Amino acid sequence: MAQLPKRAKVVIIGQGGIVGSSVAHHLIEQGWDDLVGLEKSAIPTDIGSTSHASDFCFTTSHDKLNIYTTKYSQAFYQQRGNYVKCGGMEVARVDDDERMDELRRKVGSGKAFGTNVSM
Ligand SMILES: Cc1cc2nc3c(=O)[nH]c(=O)nc-3n(C[C@H](O)[C@H](O)[C@H](O)COP(=O)(O)OP(=O)(O)OC[C@H]3O[C@@H](n4cnc5c(N)ncnc54)[C@H](O)[C@@H]3O)c2cc1C
Repeated sequence: MAQLPKRAKVVIIGQGGIVGSSVAHHLIEQGWDDLVGLEKSAIPTDIGSTSHASDFCFTTSHDKLNIYTTKYSQAFYQQRGNYVKCGGMEVARVDDDERMDELRRKVGSGKAFGTNVSM
């Protein structure tokens, strides 16, 4: 294991997950240096949520920031030739009207925030 420095401008705890990786990327992009990333498992993580994710980029959300980060991520990975655009589906069972209503609301929110989701 590398020797840890006594001081650093930034310490990122959880370096192996997508959030720690993203924080490091954006800080370095903005000119920060002297960063230390701490990770208790592995980089990339082998126990964190990131290692379990199915890599679905949700473009339906009631959260504008979520949609922004999804669109940002799609462009980010596309620029690096590392994005498989295969589409996806969210489904409701027959007679599950509540779930169907929620899907309709999510599509409405997605469209309001500029995605091209459809029902
Ligand atoms: C089964 C599953 C499927 C999912 N599918 C999707 C999907 O399709 N699309 C989507 O957008 N999202 C999906 N998600 C959600 C997404 O995976 C998480 O929101 C995201 O990975 C969280 O990233 P994170 O970096 O915050 O956490 P993590 O990936 O959990 O990373 C945190 C890291 O911190 C480390 N750590 C914790 N404590 C310490 C400590 N004290 N010291 C040092 N290191 C520490 C851990 O070892 C870990 O590596 C899914 C999640 C799961 C569980």
